[in-house]
Amino acid sequence: MSFKDLKLIKPLLKAIEASGYTEPTLVQQKAIPPILDKKDVIVSAQTGTGKTAAFAMPILQLLFDKQDAPRRGKKIKALIISPTRELASQIQQNFKTYSQFSNLRTFVIFGGTSIEPQIDVLKKGVDILVATPGRLLDLHKQDYINLDYIETLVLDEADLMLAMGFIDDVKKIERLCPENKQTLLFSATIPYKIEQLAITILKDPERIDVTPTKSVAKDVSQVLYYVPKRNKIELCLHLIRNTIKGNVLIFRRTKFGVNKLEQTLLKNGYKVDSIHGDKNQSDRQTALNKFKNGYVKILIATDVAARGIDINELDNVFNFDMPNVAETYVHRIGRTGRAGHIGKAYAICSADEKNYVKTIEQYINVQIPVETEHPYPLDPKAKPIVHKKKGSKYKKGRKSTASKKKKKRWY
Ligand code: AMP
Repeated sequence: MSFKDLKLIKPLLKAIEASGYTEPTLVQQKAIPPILDKKDVIVSAQTGTGKTAAFAMPILQLLFDKQDAPRRGKKIKALIISPTRELASQIQQNFKTYSQFSNLRTFVIFGGTSIEPQIDVLKKGVDILVATPGRLLDLHKQDYINLDYIETLVLDEADLMLAMGFIDDVKKIERLCPENKQTLLFSATIPYKIEQLAITILKDPERIDVTPTKSVAKDVSQVLYYVPKRNKIELCLHLIRNTIKGNVLIFRRTKFGVNKLEQTLLKNGYKVDSIHGDKNQSDRQTALNKFKNGYVKILIATDVAARGIDINELDNVFNFDMPNVAETYVHRIGRTGRAGHIGKAYAICSADEKNYVKTIEQYINVQIPVETEHPYPLDPKAKPIVHKKKGSKYKKGRKSTASKKKKKRWY
């Protein structure tokens, strides 16, 4: 199927060509036609599947069709709600790219940054607004946003909005929009509460399920390292020094853990940055940009801060702490192996986390290959060895049993 088969208009086809896309992804093939038909949809798709374009393109087309003048007053026609600032800016970037051959105005608002410049742009008028729930409600309360003319409402990453406690805000926003609007709900998973939300706010929705979250992209190769908890940082350094090629996104469960690892890597001479909820928006964006443009090769993040972030050409993902929710593992490693790029996902697991691995393996229905050939094996019988890497703060390790028990699982 081609983009032309989807009956997309010329300005969009030109933008698609400029973006270098040759054919629509599965979610685009399935979601664009019903959205163009003004139907409500509930789409189960992860980031990395091309889902942003799956709603951005038909929204632009529906508005473009009616675009009779370069400026359309101050009426916001499409509203996209996103749980995090990073995701919201990413969605806005997508809209900007796809609308480059139109006069449609898109804008993004989120908290954590000064409100005045946002008010100035809103006063001039925008057609498509991307927003995080809190800032949207704030600006609406102050009368800078009128939702009376919304034709399409998108709830993106609905499961994350639920996890972050935004569901009541989302319901409030939905009620502020006209009743006859079109509503599009996108979610990586459809848990019970999202299903309930969909029943209450969507009208006879078309269900689209493209990637079961359980599936791991085929272009991601996974590997599992068992390591004593106290040696996790040493193993991480060892992998960075000796094993990985290219850049790496390291996931930690807590902000404290992110800061601690960042300090250690800095002390060891690595250029590194981090993103987590305690950092302000501009610091988070700077860190992300530095990583995206290659200035730093290591980015450390918590799950919420990194969810949905689109980093082209991400080579490696480290699960420094094993996630206690199997789905989170799939989300994390889904950051790499996108658009034909081969990625590698490392799981760094201590004894107390081995049950998480079992759950993850059951969930993805894949046994993650174990690498035993490394200096810090969990096997207590292994003999210690000494590392003489130049500049290393960490020299002691344990001898690998790899020669004897290569690739043998220890549990
Ligand atoms: P998303 O799932 O929206 O986060 O998109 C993931 C990545 O896929 C983004 O970098 C998009 O630019 C890219 N993308 C979207 N649609 C296509 C397509 N049809 N062909 C190739 N890449 C695409």
